[in-house]
Amino acid sequence: MPGHIFGRSTKGALPVAVRGDGCYIIDSGGKRYLDGSGGAAVSCLGHSDAAVRAALHGQLDSLAFAHTGFFTSEPAEALADTLVAHAPAGIDRVYLVSGGSEAVEASIKLARQYFMETGQPQRHRVIARRQSYHGNTLGALAAGGNEWRRAQFAPLLVETSHIAPCYEYRDRRDGETPEAYGLRAADELEAEIQRLGPETVMAFIAEPVVGATSGAVPAVPGYLKRIREICDRHGVLLILDEVMCGMGRTGYLFACEEDGIAPDMITIAKGLGAGYQPIGALLTSGRIYDAIAAGSGFFQHGHTYMGHPMAAAAANAVLERILNQGLLARVREQGAKLDAALRAELGQHPHVGDIRGRGLFRGVELVGDRATKAPFDPARKLHAKVKALAFEAGLICYPMGGTIDGQRGDHILLAPPFIIEDAQIGELVGKLSGAIRGALA
Ligand code: PLP
Repeated sequence: MPGHIFGRSTKGALPVAVRGDGCYIIDSGGKRYLDGSGGAAVSCLGHSDAAVRAALHGQLDSLAFAHTGFFTSEPAEALADTLVAHAPAGIDRVYLVSGGSEAVEASIKLARQYFMETGQPQRHRVIARRQSYHGNTLGALAAGGNEWRRAQFAPLLVETSHIAPCYEYRDRRDGETPEAYGLRAADELEAEIQRLGPETVMAFIAEPVVGATSGAVPAVPGYLKRIREICDRHGVLLILDEVMCGMGRTGYLFACEEDGIAPDMITIAKGLGAGYQPIGALLTSGRIYDAIAAGSGFFQHGHTYMGHPMAAAAANAVLERILNQGLLARVREQGAKLDAALRAELGQHPHVGDIRGRGLFRGVELVGDRATKAPFDPARKLHAKVKALAFEAGLICYPMGGTIDGQRGDHILLAPPFIIEDAQIGELVGKLSGAIRGALA
């Protein structure tokens, strides 16, 4: 049975990964796979980082686990300090969990508890965007706008409003500047808040650069600033989900730095542990923390493995590499080279509609017709063919399907390790191009 369930069913169906070597994963048959998507934007340091491995060995030798109901720990405190020191203005508390969905769940519950404790219990509605993904647990799934993931669980999901994403390639009108488009797109939030009743709206959640559902679609300049203004005007909390695009992936530790705004909460995961440990975090403003500290004094939430010392130790080593060894600049540099290589190889391809992204977070959108931007028939499952052919050729990339209503085409998400070399960028683009041509043949 597919669906990532281990046991007899998996054997023979998938290659067995046995070793990591820089940007490559090696299977039990010795085949090497270039990790062009970091799995799903996870492995930002590749698969054999010496510093992270040493940090984990060291932590294991001193303390593997201590429950946060009784203890804090040095690695958890150090991690929180580092994150706060580099976070956007106003963000100064950190809640450490084990992954992205947990971070998003925590953000929604913290928002609710904040309003309960500040005398606004009527605020409970979340607004999010279509073509977004915020995780697979029920609260996070309800926030996400991905119909395919939501459909069969719909009766279990709390009602969430979904406005249009900021999707320049498809939604900017002819003659409209990106800035004007960004304001128009953001103003959908204003309209939705008015429709719901501003006094009932708790939070707006969005990915600054949309990952899994759309293939590295960044907000246009000015969009998030307008979103920030709208949230402020109505007392709505702004949660930015940087689980995929954060932790240096765009060339900035937090993607929203480039947009020049500070949210009320940020969720991170994936690149934070770089795959060496499962870890996520909710970062929140002092305003929210202080209100609860002065009220009940207790955030009514928690998980057994939160603040895990091993996970925090890995994340500290990852951040040390990213922040103090020039990796943010490297992401911008290698990202520009990846973008240029994609444009050179695929820019004129009759079925490549858009190449986009920031840093080492890039997307390629496939269309049936470049002029009309009409996607391929989803039944063709082009994305699955690209994925299979690329994998066969020794390239891991992250393709996803189009939609029946033509809201987007099949796309391929690329998020290679920050350590990727020029020659490996060439290998990635060459193998991807071959897989696209093969899938279309
Ligand atoms: N939020 C975003 C933007 C994501 O891309 C993901 C995972 O892809 C999640 C949340 C959920 O994270 P996790 O799979 O670690 O629970």
